Amino acid sequence: MKIVSACLMGCECRYDQKDNKVGEIEQFVKDGKAIPVCPEQLGGLPTPRNPAEIVGGDGFDVLDGTARVIDNQGNDVTEQFLQGARQALRMAQAAGAEEAILKERSPSCGSALVYDGTFSKTKRKGTGVTAALLLRHGISVRSEESLD
Ligand code: SF4
Repeated sequence: MKIVSACLMGCECRYDQKDNKVGEIEQFVKDGKAIPVCPEQLGGLPTPRNPAEIVGGDGFDVLDGTARVIDNQGNDVTEQFLQGARQALRMAQAAGAEEAILKERSPSCGSALVYDGTFSKTKRKGTGVTAALLLRHGISVRSEESLD
């Protein structure tokens, strides 16, 4: 079993209420091989919502309390991101998931790249908050781009 970012199976759960559907991932869910999760919704954030970026590090730094997640209006949404990560981990563990396929560049779901916290579309190497928590609990994480 695996978990996948819900937006990748077609859920309109992105900050702008759009999806990032990838047919192969939708098929995993239809076949009962994957469970979709959206950490930002699980953390209590609305849809649509303000876009957010990690300021001062990446998801591992957020877990360690040395970076924060801030939206583009300056609101600190770190606690919602942490709560969403914990709920996604709970679902992954309950399902016995050993792997996650998550949306690249998201401050929650990114596995290799995130935005740099300046809201200037600048990317940096790093991991989102949920991806980091899953990795710390032994669940492998890769992006949808690895399916190409
Ligand atoms: S938090 Fe993850 S699942 Fe939810 S919209 Fe963002 S990338 Fe998709």
